[in-house]
Amino acid sequence: MNLGQSPHRRYNPLTDEWVLVSPHRTQRPWLGQIESPPAESLPMYDPECYLCPGNTRAGGKRNPVYDSTFVFENDFAALVPSSSAPLPQDDALLRAASERGICRVICFSPRHDWTLPNMPLADIRRVVEVWREQTQELGALDFVNYVQVFENKGALMGASNPHPHCQVWATEHIPTEPAKELRAQADYLQSHHTCLLCDYLVIELARAERLVVQNDHFVVVVPFWAIWPFETMLLARRHLGSLTDLNDAECAALADIIKRLTTRYDNLFRISFPYSMGFHQTPTDGAAHPAMHLHAHYYPPLLRSATIRKFMVGYEMLAEPQRDITPETAAARLREMSEMLDKS
Ligand SMILES: [Zn+2]
Ligand SMILES: [Zn+2]
Ligand SMILES: [Zn+2]
Repeated sequence: MNLGQSPHRRYNPLTDEWVLVSPHRTQRPWLGQIESPPAESLPMYDPECYLCPGNTRAGGKRNPVYDSTFVFENDFAALVPSSSAPLPQDDALLRAASERGICRVICFSPRHDWTLPNMPLADIRRVVEVWREQTQELGALDFVNYVQVFENKGALMGASNPHPHCQVWATEHIPTEPAKELRAQADYLQSHHTCLLCDYLVIELARAERLVVQNDHFVVVVPFWAIWPFETMLLARRHLGSLTDLNDAECAALADIIKRLTTRYDNLFRISFPYSMGFHQTPTDGAAHPAMHLHAHYYPPLLRSATIRKFMVGYEMLAEPQRDITPETAAARLREMSEMLDKS
């Protein structure tokens, strides 16, 4: 079967779910005009931005005049550290559990007009080190069992502020997505006595058709089972479970690969490319979790241009995710992109 031509389903071993691939719908050559909307020019400093240095936030607190990264507790946190009274469990079909947590915001840079691809490598490296520190610090709290680092970028993804930032949510429970993937990785380790993502990386490096970018310590692929058109997965080459396991050389390499990947993304449709991304790492619940392999997912919504996005509706909401452009074609497009930011 030619996976580039016939409709087929692909299996995601990390989630035990399937995606429908319909490549025949895009067999025509790339006709889509690449529209780049006029580049919005942002100021270096915005007096109205609640993340810029020295400004007052909605809660009334004032940001320091920071010159690198800046971390603060979310003023409108989805979770709080104090525990509530146990919830009544009077019906097995009406289950609820109390949840404690801490939500923080990490500003990447004082520069309001920058995003990761604009930032100097040393500054991105500082961001990576803050991810490592925050995972360490929050994960050490006795009620915190999982630390989720994620970035929601661009108005298309609902990000409320263009100022470069991400969030870290530390929770009492392991959330649904990492819990699902952890189970799959643990099952794989038990039945194969090897790591699912280490084995997957060997296959992708050998086949090369879904590789996007790599360096000494990390590899980015469009996963075989990707759902979003330009979805990627960033994998550590070494089997390590957590951001806290990164040594200094790996921190530098992670900064390098993030800059190169996000630059390619920006060049694809010549816009500041929107996405949601986040790391999946070892829970901080005190158990060993040897199956967990540190990785990040990038989920960008755009399909064909700066303005044409993929919607997860209809069949996808009711039945199964579906894609037209194959992961191999998406990877080839990203490989063609320059790693010099196109400023036009
Ligand atoms: Zn700002
Ligand atoms: Zn591994
Ligand atoms: Zn994952």
